[in-house]
Formats: sequence, structure tokens, C-alpha cells
Amino acid sequence: MINSQYVDLLRKANYKITPQRLRVLDYLEGHPGHFKAEDVYNHVKANEPSITLATVYNIFRAMIRSGILDSFEINGTTWFESNTQPHANLYCEKCHKFEDFELPANVLPDRLSAEYGIHVRTASVLLKGTCRACTGDSHN
Ligand SMILES: [Zn+2]
Ligand SMILES: [Zn+2]
Repeated sequence: MINSQYVDLLRKANYKITPQRLRVLDYLEGHPGHFKAEDVYNHVKANEPSITLATVYNIFRAMIRSGILDSFEINGTTWFESNTQPHANLYCEKCHKFEDFELPANVLPDRLSAEYGIHVRTASVLLKGTCRACTGDSHN
């Protein structure tokens, strides 16, 4: 039921696995993609009324430190996602969903790091426009 990989990583990073944290991990396992802390909080609260938004942010920070979660900002809203590979996020301005796209090799952090002698830890590329489904809609 619980993603044991997440649990193992958090244990290794010396985070206590509390029932509230397990609920958050459980939710994340069933909801891959892009989400806000508030979404997770509202969902988990239904089963775990004692949880606070701060607890959700707390476990998200722990997961980011463990390399199993990434975050990015758009218009002042912080989004989280479990895809920690460098990629581009397309934000659809019509349906407000995100879609992931692989980055071309020439903008991959490894390549940039080697070429410019810098260290790129993570890459966040944000594309804004319309997704395939919405682009199709507008042609109908
Ligand atoms: Zn769309
Ligand atoms: Zn993404």
C-alpha cells in the first residue's frame, strides 16, 4: 500500500515515519504528476484530521532533500512533482494541466555543466501554451 522506496529513503535521511507522513506518501503514490501542497493537504485531511499544511510542507522538504520530489514556481504558486529528471513542464493555459517533455540533449544540465564549467544541480524549464488536447479543440 505504501511506496516502500519513499519510506526507505526518508528513513535513511533520518526522518521519522509518522502516520501523517505515511498518509502523504500514500497519496503521492496514487497521484503522480504535478500537485500543490494544498491539494495533498485537503485530501489527506479527510482521513487524518490532525494533519496541518505545515506537516505537508515539512515532508515535501524532506523528500526534496532526499531527491524524490522536485518543486517549481509559476505565478507565485509552488508546484511539486515526483519526476526529478531534468525536463520541461508545459503549462496549458486552457485546461491548467501540466505535461512533461524531455529536454533536448543540448540543454541537459550535464552538457551545460561540461561546456561552461558550472555545476547544474537541477533544471526547471517552463513552457506556457496549450496542450495537445486543447490545441486540437481550438481547430474544431
Ligand atoms: Zn490543455
Ligand atoms: Zn513535470
